[in-house]
Amino acid sequence: MPMIRDGDRGTEADGSISGIYCTHCYQMGQFTQPNASIEEMTDVCAGIMSEMFSIPKENARSFVGQHLRVLKRWSGRMIPSCKSCGMPLVSEQDAGTESDGSVSREYCTHCYQNGAYTEPDLTRETMIEKYAPVLAQSLGMPLDKARKMVTAFTSALPRWN
Ligand SMILES: [Zn+2]
Repeated sequence: MPMIRDGDRGTEADGSISGIYCTHCYQMGQFTQPNASIEEMTDVCAGIMSEMFSIPKENARSFVGQHLRVLKRWSGRMIPSCKSCGMPLVSEQDAGTESDGSVSREYCTHCYQNGAYTEPDLTRETMIEKYAPVLAQSLGMPLDKARKMVTAFTSALPRWN
């Protein structure tokens, strides 16, 4: 879940705000559903997404399943995601390159090459217009809901803040 406001974030054992988990999953330093399996979590999230964005349940489930797998709780490691598009940087092939040819830890290969954005003029609005139809098509959802979903997910990405 994108965490936009402090209220979206969970809390650590000392009451401070969690840097990595949301309020639904994590309270006072513990998972709210410590015994949930990834399948159970997929069902819960798919139900929320399906309702929120009018996505057919099966499509929501496969979308959520792919996304949950790379998250720290389920993969056991902190996989960075692209600060421009949100794509998880699972392997070096997914990552963009810095101007000295080294692997970027912040951006994916589609967004960032040789230390620069591949589409430097891209704005958040054009990004939403570009990705919403792709998402609507792949998830079988109405275009206006796809737009809302891209808006929600991109709002948490550092490039657009
Ligand atoms: Zn990217």
